[in-house]
Amino acid sequence: MKDKANIKELSTLIKTEAIRLGFAACGISKAAYLKDDAQRLKTYLEKNFNGKMSYMANHFDKRTNPQLLVEGAQSVISVLFNYFPNETQKDKQAPIVSKYAYGKDYHYVIKEKLNKLLAYIKEIEPETEGRAFVDSAPVMERAWAREAGLGWIGKHGLLINKQIGSFVFIGELIVNTSLSYDKPIKEYCGNCTRCIDACPTDAIITNKTIDARKCISYLSIELKSEIPEEFKGKFLNRVFGCDICQDVCPHNSKAIPHSHEELKPIQGLLEMRKTDWYTMDKAYFNKMFKHSPLKRTGFKGIKRNLNFISGYS
Ligand code: SF4
Ligand code: SF4
Repeated sequence: MKDKANIKELSTLIKTEAIRLGFAACGISKAAYLKDDAQRLKTYLEKNFNGKMSYMANHFDKRTNPQLLVEGAQSVISVLFNYFPNETQKDKQAPIVSKYAYGKDYHYVIKEKLNKLLAYIKEIEPETEGRAFVDSAPVMERAWAREAGLGWIGKHGLLINKQIGSFVFIGELIVNTSLSYDKPIKEYCGNCTRCIDACPTDAIITNKTIDARKCISYLSIELKSEIPEEFKGKFLNRVFGCDICQDVCPHNSKAIPHSHEELKPIQGLLEMRKTDWYTMDKAYFNKMFKHSPLKRTGFKGIKRNLNFISGYS
């Protein structure tokens, strides 16, 4: 059994390696039942705020208790990966793509790094077993990042890191090793309501709760059917996702652009003019967005979104 000093040393080594691998921050929390978050999720689902994302209701127990997800789970190692870009779309009339989707699908990029981190831990502690998660399994990633002291959950429902803001991907390694644990930090939203005031569809209904059925990110990406007419004219030219609540957040004013080669914008995306979007055919889409998160909606979904926002930019 490891003593306290070894546990602390291993925890420090893991965090140092995480930073070396390119993560912006790393924190650790004990793998335990998330009681308050489970209650919040229950209420959220009861009110149908998840819209047609029925998968959010699946594996409720595993989602709120990592020990049911990974056998022998002891610790959750959370990491943040900065995706704030250093340039945006050139044509200010072009339909707007969420910043996280400028580059290649981030799932692969982060998972690979997390698996490297796991391999590193195994070198030191060969009996370590664990699993990497990136937005892909029932894991409450924002809650874990908060528990690990990596930030607080803002009124817009996203994690905000005090140093780099909220334009971050979150990933986790759930491992069967005991480590030393960080503590949640204070919240710094205060009396600010900028995100709530700026949301064009009034999707931020109470502190930290988003009604996905009204959120442009959900409507433009997750929703597979027609977008309800009540949102006509409210998308503010968003074709894939929405960053408005993050763009107005004062904690993002000091966001530092990332320098990850793996996340650099897909060639030609930022140069696409408004006319390129509206004249794009399936072959063009498939070539341009082959490795992009835009594949999630597919050509048909993007065309639906373009039709929905056309005439309102
Ligand atoms: S992503 Fe856009 S639509 Fe959704 S809550 Fe934020 S500002 Fe509102
Ligand atoms: S805009 Fe203001 S209220 Fe909203 S998350 Fe940022 S600091 Fe919090």
